[in-house]
Amino acid sequence: MAFLEISGLKKRFGSLEILKGIDLDLEKGGFLVLVGPSGCGKSTLLNTIAGLESITEGDIRVDGRSIADLHPSKRDIAMVFQSYALYPNMTVAGNISFGMEMRGVPVEERNKAIDKVAKVLQIGHLLNRKPSQLSGGQRQRVAMGRALVRDPKLFLFDEPLSNLDAKLRVDMRIEIKRLHQATGTTIVYVTHDQIEAMTLATKIAVMRDGEVQQFGTPAEIYNNPANMFVADFMGSPA
Ligand code: ADP
Ligand code: MG
Repeated sequence: MAFLEISGLKKRFGSLEILKGIDLDLEKGGFLVLVGPSGCGKSTLLNTIAGLESITEGDIRVDGRSIADLHPSKRDIAMVFQSYALYPNMTVAGNISFGMEMRGVPVEERNKAIDKVAKVLQIGHLLNRKPSQLSGGQRQRVAMGRALVRDPKLFLFDEPLSNLDAKLRVDMRIEIKRLHQATGTTIVYVTHDQIEAMTLATKIAVMRDGEVQQFGTPAEIYNNPANMFVADFMGSPA
């Protein structure tokens, strides 16, 4: 049984059907990339998994259990957005620690968790800085740290690199890949960038207009595109 199973998922906003029956699954420790042009429904799909949007039809199961009716805070899912809102007057350590403090995690345990995450993300030397003293890439790393420290069942990323310049985007891509390999966490990652999709994914879903055009491994999609849209979008050889 797959760790994440999305079946017959539909999402309507009023009379507009934005997701038109999505079927996807992902094994534990897998890295699923949702790729497709702007407006095709990637963020909406991610938001339904996170519980930020309700679903109209269908189901989402994690670890064998439907999460469709669970409050977002009960889903054990962490999400990293494109605009990473850090608390400006807290240090990096404070930002990473805040959620744990709210949950009443004791200070020794918090510090241990911060150290572990800082090591994975190589931000140990930044722990006492304020967000204003960080570069864009460093801030994004802290935002990831804040999500990672929760040790979530599922990690969701919505275009986390699209605000960064080209060079940093490549560095962070490598970082995210390393993070995935080091932690074995299960990830669903949204991007409109084909190279990001090809380099990060264990599975890719190519989306268009609220539908999945093709779902497969990067090699399957690149070498055997299901249709012209997928071939064009993924830059497959003609
Ligand atoms: P993507 O992330 O792939 O760019 P989105 O999931 O953000 O696409 O949006 C998909 C479509 O759904 C867009 O046409 C968008 O305008 C529409 N949409 C998103 N959220 C809402 C909403 N709350 N109400 C109505 N339409 C929405
Ligand atoms: Mg989006």
